[in-house]
Amino acid sequence: MPAKNAATKSGKKVKGHLGRHSTDKPSAFDNALKQFERAAEILELTENQIVVIKEPRRITEVKLPVRMDDGSIDVFKAFRVQHNVARGPAKGGVRFHPDVTVDEVKALAFWMTYKCAVVGIPMGGGKGGVTVDPRKLSKGEFERLSRRYFAEMMDLFGPDRDIPAPDVNTNPQVMAWFMDTYSMHHRNHLPAVVTGKPPEIGGSAGRVSATAQGMVYCVRKAFEHLGIDLSKASVAVQGFGNAGSYAARLLKRDGCIIRGISDIDGAFVSDSGIDPGLAVKHVEQYGTLKGFDKHAHVQKLDDPMKLLELPVDLLIPAALENQITKSNARRIKAKIIAECANGPCTPEADEILEKKKKFVIPDILCNAGGVTVSYLEWVQNRMGYYWTEERIQDDLKRLMEDAFARVLQTSLKYDVPMRTAAFIVGIQRVTEASELRGLYA
Ligand code: GLU
Repeated sequence: MPAKNAATKSGKKVKGHLGRHSTDKPSAFDNALKQFERAAEILELTENQIVVIKEPRRITEVKLPVRMDDGSIDVFKAFRVQHNVARGPAKGGVRFHPDVTVDEVKALAFWMTYKCAVVGIPMGGGKGGVTVDPRKLSKGEFERLSRRYFAEMMDLFGPDRDIPAPDVNTNPQVMAWFMDTYSMHHRNHLPAVVTGKPPEIGGSAGRVSATAQGMVYCVRKAFEHLGIDLSKASVAVQGFGNAGSYAARLLKRDGCIIRGISDIDGAFVSDSGIDPGLAVKHVEQYGTLKGFDKHAHVQKLDDPMKLLELPVDLLIPAALENQITKSNARRIKAKIIAECANGPCTPEADEILEKKKKFVIPDILCNAGGVTVSYLEWVQNRMGYYWTEERIQDDLKRLMEDAFARVLQTSLKYDVPMRTAAFIVGIQRVTEASELRGLYA
C-alpha cells in the first residue's frame, strides 16, 4: 500500500502539518512563566522549590499516521505534556487545532496544574494536542485520528496516571472513542481513564455546561464585590465553542444582554441583544456563525477583533491564547474580563489592564468549572454510582465560590491582581504537596 504524504497527495490540500512552524506566535509557555514568576517572587520561593514545580515533568511527541478516506495516509504531529503530578494524576484536555505546538501544550499543561490546585481538586496538570484542522476531516478520518492518538499515548494514560478530557475542537464523542480504545486494549471497562464522556457511557450530569457555569459563579461574585448589577450587564463573548456558547446562554438567563458573539468566521453584534439560543441553532444547522447577520437586528463587524473592544460591562474571551495583547489592551472597555479561554491575555496586556483597574478573573480560576466537574465525573466512575444534576451543581457552586473567595482574599491581602493571587494560592498548594512527598532516591 503506497503511503503518500500530505504535500504530494494533491499538491494543494495539506491535511497533515508536520512541517509547520509557528515562530511568529508569542510563546504561551514564556507568558505562563511570567505569570508564575510574579507570584513566586511574592512567596519568596527558593530556587529548589521553583525548579521542581516550574518545568513539565514529561513531554511526549508522536507522529500519527492516519488512513484518509481516499486511501492515502497522512501523518499528524501529536503531543501530551504532563506538567506536575504532586497533587494527583495529570489532568487536562486534548486539543485538535492547526496551530498546536509543543510550546502551547506545555503552557496549557502548566495552567492545568495551577487550575486544579486553585479549586483544590486532587489532580495534577496535563494537556494534549494534535496539529490538525479538524474541519478538513471527514467523520471517519476524525475518529481514526482520535483513536490513533489514544493508542499511541496508551502507556501515559490511566485512571490513576493521566486523565484526558475535551478541549478546543474535541467533544464527548471523541472522549467516547478514547474510552473505547483504552477499554478494548485493556479488556476491561475503564470509564475513569477519560472525562467529558457522553452521560450514556459514564459522563457526568452538568459536564457540558460546567466551564461556563463555573465562570458564571465567579462572575456573580465579581459583580457583587464591585457593586455592579449583573442582571443589567451587557456582555461580549469571543468564541462560540462549548465554553462560549454556554456562557452566552447562561448569562442571558441571569438577565444580561448579549451585545456580541464571534467565532472563527466572524463577529456579530446587536444593539437590542443577540439571542444565543438562536445562534446555537444557526451553528447546529451550518456548523458556523457565518451568515448569522441574516437576522435584521444583527450586524457583522468588519474586523472580528473589534468585538473585544465593544463598550460592554463584561468581556468573555472564550477562544484561544494571546487575544488581548499590548496592541489592543488599551482599547478594552469592559470593566470585568472573565477568561473562559486559557491564556487569552498576555503579560504585557495584563500590565495595561491592571493600570486601567480592570477586574480580570483569570483562566486558572474562571474556567476551572470544566475540570472540577471532570473530577466529579472521575469520582462517580470509580464508585460506579451517579449523582443528580442538582448534586453536581451544588458541588460545583461550592467549589467555585470557595476558590473565588480565597483568591479574592489573597488579592486584597497582597494588593495584587486576581491572576497573581490565583497563582499564589495554586503555587502554595503545589509546593506543599511536593515538599510533603519529598524526593524519591
Ligand atoms: N480542557 C478543559 C480545561 O482547559 C478541561 C480539562 C479537564 O476537564 O480535564 O480546563
